[in-house]
Amino acid sequence: MTCIFCAIAEGSAPAHKVYEDEQLLAFLDLFPAHRGHLLIIPKRHSDDIFTADPSDIAAVARLSVPLARVLDRVVGGDGLGVHQLNRAAAGQTVFHYHMHLIPQTEGRPLNIHGRARGDDGELAELAQSLSRALKAEMEATA
Ligand code: AMP
Ligand code: ZN
Repeated sequence: MTCIFCAIAEGSAPAHKVYEDEQLLAFLDLFPAHRGHLLIIPKRHSDDIFTADPSDIAAVARLSVPLARVLDRVVGGDGLGVHQLNRAAAGQTVFHYHMHLIPQTEGRPLNIHGRARGDDGELAELAQSLSRALKAEMEATA
């Protein structure tokens, strides 16, 4: 069985990447619930929280901090949702452990899944801006 997030982690499927290291990858969701909708994954495959290595879960959580700050600065919005779904009954649709970071605007419905595919040009441009801002954020807090 092929896993789309493993394919992205291996570089055999495209993604609008914002951050990458040996353990982790952060990229923009292709069906954004809001502009700036980001996903963080461990590169190592596990289906969900029930089987993921705690060190991968901890690394995802740690990376969410500078990414949240950068999203707040670059995308804005009134708040930020941090979501993590496990198994279909909880709404999970891609069975490779991941965390969502979703900017939220006051009054907008609290969706985790977008209905429309994002525009590739806009996603590419935003990924580049976020990536640049993240580098600066990480350097400033190192
Ligand atoms: P979840 O429902 O928590 O499993 O979230 C999976 C997310 O992955 C959804 O928000 C999808 O829009 C997103 N998604 C699915 N395929 C891709 C892809 N190829 N690139 C980026 N995001 C994707
Ligand atoms: Zn996978």
